[in-house]
Amino acid sequence: MIFKSFLIRIKNYFIEIYLNFRGSFVATLELYQYLIGKGQSRKQITERYPDPISSKTVADLPAKSRGVLENDIEQCTGCLKCLEICPTGCFEIESEEGPTQNKTWVSIFNIDHSLCIQCELCVHVCQPRSLRFTKKFETSVLDRSQLVMRFGKGFVTHDQRQKWNSLRKLEDINFYDTE
Ligand code: SF4
Ligand code: SF4
Repeated sequence: MIFKSFLIRIKNYFIEIYLNFRGSFVATLELYQYLIGKGQSRKQITERYPDPISSKTVADLPAKSRGVLENDIEQCTGCLKCLEICPTGCFEIESEEGPTQNKTWVSIFNIDHSLCIQCELCVHVCQPRSLRFTKKFETSVLDRSQLVMRFGKGFVTHDQRQKWNSLRKLEDINFYDTE
């Protein structure tokens, strides 16, 4: 047993010597190439950005990459599940009764991308699957307020409300007619 641990220590000792020697050798080689001017002939891999010729495009991104979060407001039910689960408070949502029964009108739906950590929790709890990550990743702005994306439909107007009320009354009549 003692002999076995002794052998392991000897082995680790030589591995360490080898790794140190290899690191020094590579560093010396690179320094040598730099000193004789050959270092500059090595292939340049740094890409200019933005550069339409050499830069990566959206198609080059990994399939599961998470860019800017978007909401398809027509599918959104205003259930607030995304707002409740978001750990960083990205959402501001306001909704009210919609044009027909069981239909919600989402008047305000703001996502503050300056707070988003792309954890995807909101996407998983969204039952109508209206939330999704896009591949948009260029979000540089001069003012943080520009990172708030607005998807809401806007507040219900007086005319809309009147129209919806009569629509609901009609629905009620039809409902009782079919009873
Ligand atoms: S979880 Fe989905 S449906 Fe519910 S409010 Fe958020 S985006 Fe809308
Ligand atoms: S991805 Fe995470 S941090 Fe971003 S909005 Fe959704 S829950 Fe919030």
